[in-house]
Amino acid sequence: MGLEEKVPSGIMLTTVEQAAGLVRKSSMWPATFGLACCAIEMMSVGGPHYDLARFGMEKFGATPRQADLMIVAGRVSQKMAPVLRQIYDQMPEPKWVIAMGVCASSGGMFNNYAVVQGVDHVVPVDMYLPGCPPRPEMLLDAVLKLQDKIQNTKLGAHREQEIEEEEERQLRRNLPVVEQTGGEQR
Ligand code: SF4
Repeated sequence: MGLEEKVPSGIMLTTVEQAAGLVRKSSMWPATFGLACCAIEMMSVGGPHYDLARFGMEKFGATPRQADLMIVAGRVSQKMAPVLRQIYDQMPEPKWVIAMGVCASSGGMFNNYAVVQGVDHVVPVDMYLPGCPPRPEMLLDAVLKLQDKIQNTKLGAHREQEIEEEEERQLRRNLPVVEQTGGEQR
């Protein structure tokens, strides 16, 4: 006799991690953060045709303090990089980042001194999305894949990985490694 036969109907068994994963993935709120042409496709995903609200993401937050997903939609100029990092730091933990399009992922065709050659030089990236621009369906697909990742992430693991990536980034830039404070509100 299996355990499920002993449990009264209407009772759901799960683990705290699975329950937390379900709650987190079902209520991701993206920060409003469009940088270039890719942002037009991102905005269309929020409209009625693609209906991002189906996945618990109907609210694009005007304040990073009420957002846990940053969709970097477009190229990141060197001047914009510190601003992007500040917005990221203002978002509470846990938080995730999608690099939307080749420009955000790698600099794309803007291989020059003015554009950051991949937003992962500035913030940790959870999902890279190819294309110029990626179609709205591709962004929806990335969101669903990210939701799967969130569902199966152990509690606290996301933060540990972020600290490792930040240290690696600072080593690449030959900067002294600074201690992470985590979810700091500025
Ligand atoms: S990937 Fe293409 S559409 Fe997106 S920001 Fe770059 S040039 Fe624009």
